[in-house]
Amino acid sequence: MDLSYGHEIERFRAEVRDFIEQNRDRAPRGQGVMGGRASAAMLAWQTLLLERGYAARSVPREYGGYGGEPDLVKTIIVGEEFSRAGVSAGVSGPGVDMLVPTLLEHGSEDQKKRFVTPTLRGEIVWCQGYSEPGSGSDLASLQTSGVADGDDFVINGQKIWTSSAHIADMMFALVRTEPEARRHAGISYVLIPMDAPGIEVRPLRGMTGDSEFNQVFFSDVRVPRSNIVGRRGEGWEIAHTTLKHERQVAGNPRELESTLQSLIALMETETCNGVRAIDNPLFRERLMRAQARVLSLKYHAMRLLTCELRGESPGVAELVVKLRACELMQQMAALGLDAMGELGVLYDGSKYERGAGSWPSEYMTWTGFIIAGGTAQIQKNIISERGLGLPREPRVPSKRA
Ligand SMILES: Cc1cc2nc3c(=O)[nH]c(=O)nc-3n(C[C@H](O)[C@H](O)[C@H](O)COP(=O)(O)OP(=O)(O)OC[C@H]3O[C@@H](n4cnc5c(N)ncnc54)[C@H](O)[C@@H]3O)c2cc1C
Repeated sequence: MDLSYGHEIERFRAEVRDFIEQNRDRAPRGQGVMGGRASAAMLAWQTLLLERGYAARSVPREYGGYGGEPDLVKTIIVGEEFSRAGVSAGVSGPGVDMLVPTLLEHGSEDQKKRFVTPTLRGEIVWCQGYSEPGSGSDLASLQTSGVADGDDFVINGQKIWTSSAHIADMMFALVRTEPEARRHAGISYVLIPMDAPGIEVRPLRGMTGDSEFNQVFFSDVRVPRSNIVGRRGEGWEIAHTTLKHERQVAGNPRELESTLQSLIALMETETCNGVRAIDNPLFRERLMRAQARVLSLKYHAMRLLTCELRGESPGVAELVVKLRACELMQQMAALGLDAMGELGVLYDGSKYERGAGSWPSEYMTWTGFIIAGGTAQIQKNIISERGLGLPREPRVPSKRA
């Protein structure tokens, strides 16, 4: 089996490497806008990446992208090379990774023009308003209401676990606008400015100690009708486009490989009673298992790519990625913690912390990602029912019929 990408693609790879080597001093440290707004250095870096086609490569120029032909393989090569070099790939987050592809597929011309360019440039920060108290896995039971009034919808209700709502300019949210319709049919996908009167954001402290989550309360918040994406009442289908992109972000094989490399480096330096962690047979066996799983997910991603290039449906193969990748990231972080012994759990500025305290926070972050965007149990239900065609499990009666 020939797994090489071919001559033309390897020439493109060399161009990307060359760009990175010549410009790496201009790249900011750290990633995108997760957990905070992008710095001035990040915004400048993102502008350069957009100009050179290393960000938003296939987004049309009129919406602020590079305007290249959609070429999945080149997009993957760009990602591989930035990851290999340890250089920031530019602005990331729910706006760039999830909303932009959703708007390009379902948005009106006006919405694409207003929102895509500033989002790609990192000027508009977005948050995702799906979950509500009592409506997480059973998302279609959501209660936040939008009532038509003149040219506006008036929104009342509450969202929860809204990451980055405290720094966001805008929210893409699911709101029930047709209370009489069947529950999946009564939802609209709405773009809400976070500075609209009637919005209150209250922080929630997570297990990392940071307050990245929030509760968001809406009291008579007016949003123009033109901010509904797609047609009124068709938000459920549009929400699934966003969710698909959210789940793809979580299964990035490059991130798995770079975490594996960091883990190997850690295990080569950390010692217990003079023995390197990598030479301890128990740790070594866990490392080998992780390495095998990383490789299998890498080749699995190539299989999905082949399906996509041939226009074939990958079926169940696509559904396993988010579940397997999130669990594997958590398992690798757990091994990193164990390899550091009792000092492994220290972080947040402790003078004894190892590896800049990144392993405990990685562990907690990936524990969270196993839940976010659909829990592991829900993923298993989807794989078994939609992917393998097994009978549906009995449903607990919902609040809504
Ligand atoms: C790190 C992180 C970031 C997040 N960011 C956002 C965000 O920005 N915006 C947003 O809207 N939401 C966000 N969420 C919320 C997330 O989408 C929900 O937590 C998730 O959908 C689960 O919903 P829930 O918390 O209400 O749990 P529940 O749905 O109440 O589930 C509780 C438990 O029951 C299990 N369960 C539920 N139903 C079934 C079933 N049918 N079969 C088997 N088991 C079941 C679940 O797997 C889980 O273990 C985030 C969550 C995390 C952890």
